[in-house]
Amino acid sequence: MSVAESSSELSDLRRRNLRRVAHLIRDNPGIHLSDVSERTGLALGAVSSLVNALVDAEIVDDAASAAGGRGRPRRTLALVDRHIDLVAARVTRSAIDVRSSTLAGRVLASESRTTATPWTIDAAAATLAELANDVVDERRHPDRRPIMVISFPGAAVEDQLGAHELDWNLLPAARLLDPVRAAGIRQASVGNDGSLATLAEWRAGAARGYGNAAVVLLGRGLGGSAIIDGKLLRGSRNAPGFGHTPVDPNGPLCVCGLHGCVELYASLQSIAARLGDGEHLADLPSTAYSAELEERASMREVDVLSAFAETRTRLRDFSDLLGALLAPEAVVLTGSASSLAGRLISDPRNAVGPVMIEGELGPDAALIGAMFAAQDDALDDPLAFAAPGRSTVG
Ligand SMILES: [Zn+2]
Repeated sequence: MSVAESSSELSDLRRRNLRRVAHLIRDNPGIHLSDVSERTGLALGAVSSLVNALVDAEIVDDAASAAGGRGRPRRTLALVDRHIDLVAARVTRSAIDVRSSTLAGRVLASESRTTATPWTIDAAAATLAELANDVVDERRHPDRRPIMVISFPGAAVEDQLGAHELDWNLLPAARLLDPVRAAGIRQASVGNDGSLATLAEWRAGAARGYGNAAVVLLGRGLGGSAIIDGKLLRGSRNAPGFGHTPVDPNGPLCVCGLHGCVELYASLQSIAARLGDGEHLADLPSTAYSAELEERASMREVDVLSAFAETRTRLRDFSDLLGALLAPEAVVLTGSASSLAGRLISDPRNAVGPVMIEGELGPDAALIGAMFAAQDDALDDPLAFAAPGRSTVG
């Protein structure tokens, strides 16, 4: 082995260890140096050197705690929480929401725009760039640019974006991302809303602590993903296509080309279609339509109650399918329709069917997930994130 090879292996090893330590500190704010050593199996001296590098790079903050007032102070570690390092965004049919936050995940600024007609990709790009510019204010880090992740209701296939809800039929991702990067973002990427909502409910919501869980994102359509053995399922398209699971081969033709997809039977759009509200929902944020449905149900409007019953049955069928395929500890229902969870969740039909539980993050799940994904990107190679791309900082 040449010297160059062994030194590049050493730096790979160091990068991997920096990533492990940074993630451990992210997951355990306030952790002590000695616990990092114990949890990683790395020697205290090695951990101390890695932590010093992360502190110097302003990735981690190091506070001495007095350990009950006796003995030497212990070092307690957490991600830096001082300046804007992350931008999370979400594109839906009716709105674009953008938030900036610290590396630790504290939201510092947020902006939204609504639209009456679905965003074209170029209008979405211009709006994302403008709002990103607004939320990255003087609290930004002086030397480094933030990382941005954009949630959207579709799939990224190689470098193309497809989203039925937005009428984006495999458009080049660069058309969305280039204007955003030009607006002072170090790195921008897109993620499927169902995957990001799953990440959020797992890190900070109802699926926290589970090794195996499925998350159903219920809004205009139906999406979601799963945690499998402690990892987020991304599939080959950055998300599985839960909504396009065929549940009725003789059912109507779906926009995806299959017949009888579950989204046609269990979604706000399917409820709206049953109630003759299709055009009404098109003009409304989906959270507002959910609230309206809840009110009509509480007035015992028969059509609404029967649409809920159909949706509840289809969700239980789908949940049982997920139970058989993935053996999750629970199926979490989240998203803009999750305020209806009390009406849409039913008990398992047999002993092995998974329990369904209401998500904790509801309408914000995908946006919070975009923040976690941006944080993951920053911590993936923390020193590279911290070292400003000096040639590109204007
Ligand atoms: Zn379909």
